[in-house]
Amino acid sequence: MKAEIINKIFPNPLPTIEEIEAKYPPRQLPEGAKVTRVGPSPTGLMHIGNLIAALIPERLAHQSNGVFFLRIEDTDQKRKVDGAVDLILSSLYGYGIQNDEGPVLNGPEKGNYGPYFQSARKEIYQAYVKDWLEKDLAYPCFCTEEENEKNHALQVAQNARPGYHGGWARCRNLSEETVLQNLNEGKKFVIRFKSPGHYNKKIVIQDVLRGKREFPENDLDIVILKGDGLPTYHFAHLIDDHLMGTTHVIRGEEWLSSLPLHIQLFQTMGWKPPKYGHIAHVQKMDENGNRRKFSKRLDPEAKLTYYSEKGYPKTALIEYLLNLANSNFEDWRRANPDKPYTDFELSLNKLNSSGALFDLVKLNSISKDVIGKMTAREIYDYALEWMKNYDVPFSEVMEKNKDYMIRIFNIEREGVKKVRKDIAVWSDVKNEVSYFFDDQFTLTTGEAYKLLSPLSVNEIMKIVNAFVENYDEADSKEIWFEKIKKIAEVNGFATDMKAYKAEPSNFKGSVADVAKVLRIFVTGKEQSPDLYAIMQVMGKDRVLKRLTIA
Ligand code: GLU
Repeated sequence: MKAEIINKIFPNPLPTIEEIEAKYPPRQLPEGAKVTRVGPSPTGLMHIGNLIAALIPERLAHQSNGVFFLRIEDTDQKRKVDGAVDLILSSLYGYGIQNDEGPVLNGPEKGNYGPYFQSARKEIYQAYVKDWLEKDLAYPCFCTEEENEKNHALQVAQNARPGYHGGWARCRNLSEETVLQNLNEGKKFVIRFKSPGHYNKKIVIQDVLRGKREFPENDLDIVILKGDGLPTYHFAHLIDDHLMGTTHVIRGEEWLSSLPLHIQLFQTMGWKPPKYGHIAHVQKMDENGNRRKFSKRLDPEAKLTYYSEKGYPKTALIEYLLNLANSNFEDWRRANPDKPYTDFELSLNKLNSSGALFDLVKLNSISKDVIGKMTAREIYDYALEWMKNYDVPFSEVMEKNKDYMIRIFNIEREGVKKVRKDIAVWSDVKNEVSYFFDDQFTLTTGEAYKLLSPLSVNEIMKIVNAFVENYDEADSKEIWFEKIKKIAEVNGFATDMKAYKAEPSNFKGSVADVAKVLRIFVTGKEQSPDLYAIMQVMGKDRVLKRLTIA
């Protein structure tokens, strides 16, 4: 009768276990090579957690000459969104995370351990489920959703542990006659695992990030095959990570509590389980100073689109995440300022597993360092690419003024001891450079006077006129500055800072105040990069025009 039952459940021919196993031979890899994967669900959203869940295994695989593959976990057909796989791929590729196997953008998937879409592996899962039914390791369950809800309410009322276990597992011991009858009546069913576990027994499992953990054994008869013929995450994980030869499962900590079940599933098959590492969720400090999980709903910066919209260089976010993952990244970066981050050896036992706090200030500072290492030309190219997506009019200005822009970006950059680090995101660029363009420079003389108060209009005019009279674009920086000092002296401003500090009332101000007058008229800002360099880049005509006070 059992054969009849199984034939009713799986009327179509399925491959045998032997046939399947033969298609997935053990991988031939060097000693110590890790095989890792990321298994996103195609839900149409990419958040920081997805990036971390890809970056860490990718690094572990590639730094050990192993294999990193992408598997699309699309067994929950209700959550599937069109275009989501392309979004996953373009996001990962954009952040420099390359998969050795699995789907690729605009082409057939690559690798010999596929298919890499779980929905395309239906027959494989079903073949194993069939095998489990034959071996009495699983059984069909006809409980309806309402019945399960009622059970749950009863469990709550009786203070019993929730779930489908022990005496609550009502379909576990159905007679073959009843099962067959139910099937013949066309009753809906799922397939459940017949768990051999005992809740009062303990098992100790080693998490590669968290060390030894003790859990009660799993005794839940979890669903392994759903009514739609697709497996649940647990079962798909078992089959896929076995067949695909995963050595390390690095995943979010929400799966930690499933670990006893997963180990039990592997034991049921007599397969060696992979090593598991559960990454902590990124946390955020809320308004009241309490830590909480990053929320896709509440925190705009939880979504990856936030970083593209702001214009963070991709490597800045990656370096920040490496820094969150391994606190020694920062020391390594300081000691190796010019190496690509891929040279950093991410270490499993230093991996932060206790919930790293997300810190935008730190990210900005890393981003400034990353941009600080770029050439003016690279900055131009990246900024232009960003503008083309987010500020088309300014991208046109940039393209029309390419050489000028590159010279602007080069101020205090190539060949200087201390590189300027004022740009953190590409969306800062326009604001940082707009004063170089006459049509964006809107400061009126009146506003300038206000910014320069308490200097009188007369004093300001004297300084400006003296500078204009003697300005020679060909002057070296030293001569240029000597001339400003001269103007200071003649007008009663201190050039000797010591003397000025000792007795400020003897002076109208210092040479810095004189330079400020020029800076305000030329840039409209109280602070700017090197004013001499700015004037050189602007060119004589523009400088003199700015200094012509009507
Ligand atoms: N699809 C699962 C998720 O998105 C993957 C978990 C895993 O890596 O095993 O959470």
